[in-house]
Amino acid sequence: MPRLHLLDSLPPDLLAMTAPELATRLPGPTLVHLPGRHARPLFVSVLLHGNEDTGWDAVREVLQRYQGRELPRAMSLFIGNIHAAAAGVRTLPGQSDFNRVWPGTCVPEAAEAAIMADVVAIMRELQPFASIDIHNNTGLNPHYACLNRLDTRFFHLARLFSRIAVYFSEPVGVQSMAMAELCPAVTVECGKVGSGSGVGHAAEFLEACLHLDHFPEHALAAGELELLQTVAILKVPEGLSFSFDGSAADIRFRTDIDTLNFTEAAPGTLLGRVGTPGSRLSVVPGVPGESLPADCVVVESGSIRLGQRLVPAMLTRDPQAVRLDCLCYLMRRIDDQGNPVQSRP
Ligand SMILES: [Zn+2]
Repeated sequence: MPRLHLLDSLPPDLLAMTAPELATRLPGPTLVHLPGRHARPLFVSVLLHGNEDTGWDAVREVLQRYQGRELPRAMSLFIGNIHAAAAGVRTLPGQSDFNRVWPGTCVPEAAEAAIMADVVAIMRELQPFASIDIHNNTGLNPHYACLNRLDTRFFHLARLFSRIAVYFSEPVGVQSMAMAELCPAVTVECGKVGSGSGVGHAAEFLEACLHLDHFPEHALAAGELELLQTVAILKVPEGLSFSFDGSAADIRFRTDIDTLNFTEAAPGTLLGRVGTPGSRLSVVPGVPGESLPADCVVVESGSIRLGQRLVPAMLTRDPQAVRLDCLCYLMRRIDDQGNPVQSRP
């Protein structure tokens, strides 16, 4: 049974280690409290997905700058799936996804869910100032923030990272949704692993948050933040094969599918072709309680197309990511109240 390890300082030499090396020094998921000038901590989680190491590298970069001096603000750092990191994978076989088991999860009985519940309970006592969960994704995507509340403070936090913010309610059990109960919380997506600019950008964001004294009360100016809402999640049903290079499969996606990410895609936009008659993508509603936008994906004479004007995101050509998570999210633009807006402001 995995359990949470608690530290009140970083083991010497930990900052010299790469993500895959952490399991040689730490016994498992670890929460480290580091003191700072402002007592209410910035909560940061990294490596909830073991192969997404930009968060750890950004934390190393920032903490190395402060070695021997006080942080501007306390930081509570949760280092997540170090064993998956050692293996270079998102999640090890037999483990639950570390970003689907936070309070609110649909698998509260999972062993990992108890760890995340402990983390949230500890952080609740410490009254965090803000929460940041750092990830990578696998397709061609701009850097963007995700949030689970339409709240001015959350918008300010997201805007410190990017002009693009994605509002979502599904999937549940994610870190940012649990932490939103305690403080402004965002997930930041820093592009592909090893893309270079991701680490620098995430480090800059962490540094900005450590220096922030309070969140402004005023609303963001129009156009300062482009808000998108997930309306549907596209998955390939288990048992169906798929390809991205045109080779024989039940579903053959177009080769350049990830170039559609964050574009306003018109109805009729081609996603791929049906290889085996009757093969269909599964479409999961992104807004609980709201019926699925009918015909958001349609099949016409063997072509799989968007049925509506939507913004695809996190489209990936990585078969493992498609299997473990999804093909993509389909989004629409919204205003700061959550009302759909027709086109780019
Ligand atoms: Zn991730």
